Amino acid sequence: MDERPTVAYIDLGNLSHNFHEIKKIAKNSEVLCVVKANAYGHGMVEVAKALSRAGARWFGVATAGEAEVLIKSGIRGKILVLNGIFPGEEKFIIEHNLRGVVFDKEGVERMNEAGKRMGKRALIHIKIDTGMGRLGFLPEDFKEIMEKIRNYKFVKVEGIMSHFAHADLKDMEFIKHQLELFRRCIRRAGFNGLKHIANSAGTVLLPSARLDMVRCGIAIYGIYPSEDCKSKISLKPVLSLKTRIHSIKDLPKGYGIGYGHTYVLKRKSRVAVIPAGYGDGILRANSNRGYVLVKGRLCPIIGTVCMDLTAIDVTDVPDVRVGDEVVIIGEESGKVLSANDLANSSSTIPYEVLCLLTKRVRRIYTGG
Ligand SMILES: *Cc1c(COP(=O)(O)O)cnc(C)c1O
Repeated sequence: MDERPTVAYIDLGNLSHNFHEIKKIAKNSEVLCVVKANAYGHGMVEVAKALSRAGARWFGVATAGEAEVLIKSGIRGKILVLNGIFPGEEKFIIEHNLRGVVFDKEGVERMNEAGKRMGKRALIHIKIDTGMGRLGFLPEDFKEIMEKIRNYKFVKVEGIMSHFAHADLKDMEFIKHQLELFRRCIRRAGFNGLKHIANSAGTVLLPSARLDMVRCGIAIYGIYPSEDCKSKISLKPVLSLKTRIHSIKDLPKGYGIGYGHTYVLKRKSRVAVIPAGYGDGILRANSNRGYVLVKGRLCPIIGTVCMDLTAIDVTDVPDVRVGDEVVIIGEESGKVLSANDLANSSSTIPYEVLCLLTKRVRRIYTGG
C-alpha cells in the first residue's frame, strides 16, 4: 500500500534516446552503460533491462553485489565491476564471467590463484592511475606488472583503463595529459585489447578519448556533464520527481516555520506542506535555499527540510489547493527545474541529488 504522491517518473524512452545519441557520436567504440548506485537512483534492474533492449552490451557497476543483482534479474551482457574485487569475491566474479577491475599486485595474484583453483581464467581490466590520484597502478609500475602477468596463466587482461580527474573536463590541459600518458603506457606494454578512459564528458567533448570503449553514466540519464556538452549532443532527462500538496495554511507575518524556526514569515503567507523530505532524498542543504514548481511558478522551500515533510511558500500561486501537483525535478507548464538546479541550490552535483533518492520513493516507469 502506497498512495503517497511522491513519485519518481523514469522515462525509459528518453533513456534509450540518450543511449542511441551516445552510440551515434561514439560509433566506433563500445558503449559501457554505468548503472552503479541503483543506476544513479533510477532503478538498476529496470534501467539495465531497457538499455539491453536498446542494444547495450556492456554494463558497469561499482560492486560485486550490484553485479549479482543484475545477473539474478537475467541481464545478459558483459559486466565490469569498476571498483575492485574484495577478498572472497574472486570465485563469484570468475564463475559468472564478470570482469573485475584490478589496481594492485595483490589483486592480480588473488584473481590468478582463484582462477587456478577453478581451472578457469579470470577476466580482468587493469587500471592505471594517470592522475586521478585514486585507484590504479602508477605509470612507472605498470610495465612491470604487465610483464609479471605474462607468467600468470589464470588471468586474461581483457582491458586496460584509466579515469579522468574531472567529471566535466574543466581542466582540458590536464585531461589531455592523462590521455597522452595512458596511450604511452599502453604503447610501451604493447597491449592490443580493450582500452578505455572516457567518462560521459570525455565521450562527448574529446573524440580522441573514445578509444575502444566509453563508460557513460550521467549522460545516459540525460544530464549534461557540463554546459559545453549542450552543443555536441542532445540529451533528454530521464527522471522527474513529483509530489502533490499535502496541506495548506494561511499564516500571519512573524510565524516561525519548522524545526528551529530557521525561517520566520516576512509577510502574511500561504504555506503549503509537501509529503517529501530528506528521507526521500531532498537534501537538507536545500533548507531555505531550493525551489519547487507549482502551476509553473517557482516556490521557495522555507524552513528546514524535514525527514518526511517540507514547507514551501505558495503565496504567489493563484488558486492553489491541496492535491495540486508539485514538481521537484522536471517540467511543468513550460518551466523546467533540473537535477542541476536542485544541486546548485544545495551546493552539490546532480550525481549526488540522484543517488540520494531513497528506496521509499516509488518509481514509475514510462515509455518502456
Ligand atoms: C561512475 C564511473 C563512470 C561514469 O561517469 P559519468 O561521469 O557518470 O559518465 C565512468 N568510469 C568509472 C570508473 C566510474 O566509476
